[in-house]
Amino acid sequence: MASSTNSAFRVRFAPSPTGYLHVGGARTALYCYLLARHMGGAFVLRIEDTDEERSTEESMRMQIADLEWLGLRWDEGPHPQTLKDLGPHGPYRQSQRKHLYQDYAQRLIKSGHAFYCFMTDEELEQQRKQAEASGQAQQILSPYRDRALSEAQARLARGEKAAIRFKVNPVKRDYVLNDLVRGEVVFPSDMVGDFVLIRSSGMPVYNFCCVIDDVLMQISHVYRAEEHLSNTLRQMMIYEALGAKLPQFGHLSIILGPDKQKLSKRHGATSCNEYRLNGYLPQAINNFIAMLGWSSPKGQEIMSMAEMTEQISLDRFNSSPAVFDDQKLKWVNASHLRALPDDELWTLIQPFLESAGIKVPSDTGWRHRALELMKPYMSTLADSVELFKPLARGSFQVLPEAQETLAWESSRAVVGKWMEIIQGHPKAHLSEEEFNAAQEQVKSSCQVKGKFLFMPIRVAVLGKPHGAELKILVPLLDKSELVARAQTVLNGMA
Ligand code: GLU
Repeated sequence: MASSTNSAFRVRFAPSPTGYLHVGGARTALYCYLLARHMGGAFVLRIEDTDEERSTEESMRMQIADLEWLGLRWDEGPHPQTLKDLGPHGPYRQSQRKHLYQDYAQRLIKSGHAFYCFMTDEELEQQRKQAEASGQAQQILSPYRDRALSEAQARLARGEKAAIRFKVNPVKRDYVLNDLVRGEVVFPSDMVGDFVLIRSSGMPVYNFCCVIDDVLMQISHVYRAEEHLSNTLRQMMIYEALGAKLPQFGHLSIILGPDKQKLSKRHGATSCNEYRLNGYLPQAINNFIAMLGWSSPKGQEIMSMAEMTEQISLDRFNSSPAVFDDQKLKWVNASHLRALPDDELWTLIQPFLESAGIKVPSDTGWRHRALELMKPYMSTLADSVELFKPLARGSFQVLPEAQETLAWESSRAVVGKWMEIIQGHPKAHLSEEEFNAAQEQVKSSCQVKGKFLFMPIRVAVLGKPHGAELKILVPLLDKSELVARAQTVLNGMA
């Protein structure tokens, strides 16, 4: 891993704040972060909020909070709390950079690479219809591309509105992109017509802002979603017109749901925030999404951020679609969760228990034992709710589903004997072995076996004949609590 600072390696994550941070966006951010750390370079966060109708401040804050939660700290960009610009290339929000886009559009007009276009919506629609009729994709060929600038200026001075379009060279040629993920991609230049840089409303378009910013922010490597591959030709043309060096591009594979359709809300949780709320750990999300399109050269599947930072490289990204497998994510989460020290794990599950109103003993010895026993059954932090529910103090109830068990002739004797044995137990808790021995005693004393033995005891502990394993729960319940529960059951049978 490069240890010294490598000012030539600069990557950026450039989300549009038009919703939550999707796992696909998080993956792009993660790769950029890991590569920046690996190369000793810089990770820049740029907010692409020029779409005034769809961008919101709230979405930006949410996405920033999610990136923070994932631990993907950026070196330059809005400060995570104050949103003030951090770094020498700001502002880092495109809505605050509009003057720069205007300035560069003027430069391109002056150099003959762009022009004012006065085409009306009707004229554009007519061209679109003609293209459709001839079975071709629409490529705008503006009648204004070769008009004198003075003519356009006069019209503007009269208050007319014009878009600024890029003047695509009519001589057809191939643009060749050596994509870091997809290899060589060839774009014939006639795939695009005279495309818009700045709309007549004054709003600059994504392809233009993106290039200007990547140039001014000295971005050396652009990793982004595959869906942006088709934008790259226009962007290459703009770089060429500006005489700017093209960064290296890497278009990351698409992420599919288990049904092999593009991952979407239909497949369940897709935002980082939902995963956080559902009890997933940031280190597990990072680990799992890293594997969607990248693999460890050592074949490791469970990896820490430090291991991923060490092993990541520019050339191990996979171009074929990645399938998002929820079961695998659970497994990855369970692995990270089980590796946590008990104190840390307890701090993380506490809010889940609290919001479910579950009160459990506060002594650390008990908590340590509880976690040791429960951990193997936990995949997410949220799983702790169901696991700890039967241990909550003052929550015991005999549920209607227990009635059938309690109606058996032998059940009263079983519960009574169980209570008697617990009452006589010399210690405050039973170990797993002591619990097994207690069951054996009930068995021989009441002459019952199988469900006639186990199910009434379950009711005496859980209030229902099914649920979590007693050999785990009983050692975590105080003797007094076990006796009180059995007594409640007996009272209910009277
Ligand atoms: N703002 C774009 C998006 O959110 C990013 C495009 C890019 O990385 O060039 O998809």
